[in-house]
Amino acid sequence: MKIGIIGTGYVGLPTGVGLAELGNQVTCIDRETSKIEALQSGKITLYEDGLEDLFHKNVKEGRLHFTTSMKEGVENADVVIIAVGTPPHPVTKEADMKYIHAAATELAEYLTGYTVIATKSTVPVGTGDVVEGLISKKNPFADFDVVSLPEFLREGFAIHDFFNPDRIIVGANTEKAKNVIKELYKPFEGKTNMLFVKRRSSETIKYASNAFLAIKIHYINEMANFCEKTGADIYEVAQGMGLDSRIGPKFLNPGPGYGGSCFPKDTMAMSFMARQNGVDMTLINAAINGNVNRKKQMSERILSAVKSIENPKIAVLGLAFKNGTDDCRESPAMEIIGELINQGADITAYDPKAMGTACRILGNKIQYADNMYQALQDADVLAVLTEWNEFRELDLSKTAELMRHKKIVDCRNLLDPQKAKDLGFDYQGIGR
Ligand code: NAD
Repeated sequence: MKIGIIGTGYVGLPTGVGLAELGNQVTCIDRETSKIEALQSGKITLYEDGLEDLFHKNVKEGRLHFTTSMKEGVENADVVIIAVGTPPHPVTKEADMKYIHAAATELAEYLTGYTVIATKSTVPVGTGDVVEGLISKKNPFADFDVVSLPEFLREGFAIHDFFNPDRIIVGANTEKAKNVIKELYKPFEGKTNMLFVKRRSSETIKYASNAFLAIKIHYINEMANFCEKTGADIYEVAQGMGLDSRIGPKFLNPGPGYGGSCFPKDTMAMSFMARQNGVDMTLINAAINGNVNRKKQMSERILSAVKSIENPKIAVLGLAFKNGTDDCRESPAMEIIGELINQGADITAYDPKAMGTACRILGNKIQYADNMYQALQDADVLAVLTEWNEFRELDLSKTAELMRHKKIVDCRNLLDPQKAKDLGFDYQGIGR
């Protein structure tokens, strides 16, 4: 099939690469000229495991193209996927729809023949109708259907998740559109659950899923606080809980709070939609507020560990919002660092993949190390903020030699508490 993808970011690029690998002719469109120029010259613009090799392969085999021209990407396409951002509105915190509206209006005039417009961006309920209206207004003769095709990939596992989706949800209001999407996902037939629902149900499924996961994280973090006070161990508690098939073992890892470009904004957007519709959603609101406090609690823990030290030096390991990505949007690490900076802290940080993205946000407010041991040199406390596997391998004896004071606040529970204590560290983990 011929596919145009509008928006070549963390969703659009892996999706484009994946669909090309399945044999489709894919054109990725973005309005950011520098991004498209980089991709056209063979330079990948974000980090995802396995993305780069597949990107080069499909470009070389002529199935993957990049352009800033809406016309080039949309004309003759069977399916146009919208994968632009829906960030929180700066004031109301609802999903800001300006990119969706712009994309819908811009693509309209280039539609040729019957085309399915598939919205992969996470969008408020009823957006399908709005997109439909914008296209019809701009191009009254266009022959098209709008479907909701929410994206469930996890950053850090985007390529894995593209080829091994838990489920494909399709919100289609016509048989014709349904059949086109069935054809697009034919390679997954029999391998995954494909659920066809009403467009508005599909739009809701995405928000309902993300809000549920955010609540689950908030819940286990509150349980971790409880364990710290009572002498229980959150891992034993989570393991015991997870053996109940109604609960399941996933998403029961305590940490510094949820982050990233989805959970924070999607919970706020869901809360806004609930208010708009006069529905009380106390659980989601509790998770939103609790998650903001969580990051404050973590920065307080770090500061409290060095409160008796004059001009303390803080070593931070981890900047990305999770392992496997260079994405720092709404990263708990970045927010904790922000609080520490406000308190005048002297910070040196290291992240295996996110140094560039973090530097674009934090600039010279902190120092950047070339490796984890450089960050630890003369530090008074080590704060572990992202769960990169390489941090698990940290040589604690070497760490003890490099640091000025032996203090660790391990917000991801990556290090061995007993080993740390045996080496004389004042070690604080989460929930145990
Ligand atoms: P992103 O910011 O990484 O990428 C969006 C891209 O769209 C940018 O490159 C931007 O320049 C481009 N763009 C915006 N308006 C455009 C226009 N009119 N024409 C062409 N290009 C345009 O965003 P993302 O993380 O890929 O997220 C995209 C959507 O997918 C959001 O709604 C998000 O909530 C949803 N989503 C994201 C994830 C994730 O893990 N990142 C997962 C599931 C769903």
